[in-house]
Amino acid sequence: MLKRFSLLMIASLNLTAGWMFVNDDGTLTPYNETAYDNSYSIPQNDVIKPIEIKPKKRHKRKKTLHKQKIKKRAHQKKRLFINSNEDKTIYLTFDDGPLNGTQNVIDVLQEEGIPATMFMIGKHINTSPSHKRVFKIAVSDPLILVANHTYSHANRRYRRFYSNPYNVVSDLNRMNVVLQNSGQFIDGKYCRLAGRNVFRVGALRCDDPAIPKSRHEEQSYDALANEGFHIYGWDYQWDYRPRDGKLYKSPQEMLRRINHIYNRGKTKKRGKFILLMHDFTFKDRFNGKEKLRELISLLREDGWNFDSIENY
Ligand SMILES: [Zn+2]
Repeated sequence: MLKRFSLLMIASLNLTAGWMFVNDDGTLTPYNETAYDNSYSIPQNDVIKPIEIKPKKRHKRKKTLHKQKIKKRAHQKKRLFINSNEDKTIYLTFDDGPLNGTQNVIDVLQEEGIPATMFMIGKHINTSPSHKRVFKIAVSDPLILVANHTYSHANRRYRRFYSNPYNVVSDLNRMNVVLQNSGQFIDGKYCRLAGRNVFRVGALRCDDPAIPKSRHEEQSYDALANEGFHIYGWDYQWDYRPRDGKLYKSPQEMLRRINHIYNRGKTKKRGKFILLMHDFTFKDRFNGKEKLRELISLLREDGWNFDSIENY
């Protein structure tokens, strides 16, 4: 008993130097490190899954989109600011005369005493004595600029017309001769293309967004610009039913739309707005005079200034 106790004591004392195991017969065995090797080896049949590192791309893209949004918002604000601080000028333009309705337009413009532009078609002038007469009235009014809207209006075959720059230039030159012989003093060639919303005015260069680039119509627009023509499109149109020219929107609705576009800086030029209208929508049948008069007085009350296209 005493022997066993003394052996246990020896084993306890050995703890400081290293582990010792007490065997069943009372003898001691030192702790063998190699016999309890706990190093870990991977069985060969096991599939090692690679650690997935999630790419940060998505996060980065989100950040970029966010930055872009902020930039866009700032840009919109800037544009809003731009037009709200500018002198609001509207250019009333009337296309396709002389027609039934042209006299009503002239009457209202004269009553109101405001400048405007009438883009007329050469071949319409000689179709009736009344057309010839209204053309003369328009060119003799100092507040009305009668400008070029082609001689033929492309005979309404626009694609074919604009595929040939030579024909386009000669057609507009033909109408220009009519304007020069009318007695109206014009210091420049001001025109609007038939069926196309195109700008070539100084540095302002804009092709019709509805026409595919593959048609290369810009060759015709550029040919006109090289001939000295200033080409004017429009910012918004008072649209109508093609069958008879009935206007879709009321003058009040038009004012709202015009201000909406203007306040968002969506006009082609800062502080300026070109409104496209058509003579034949102001016929007596649809109270043309009243509607035009009402739109003009609404615009005036709203602080708009009026000018003709040569000052654009
Ligand atoms: Zn037209």
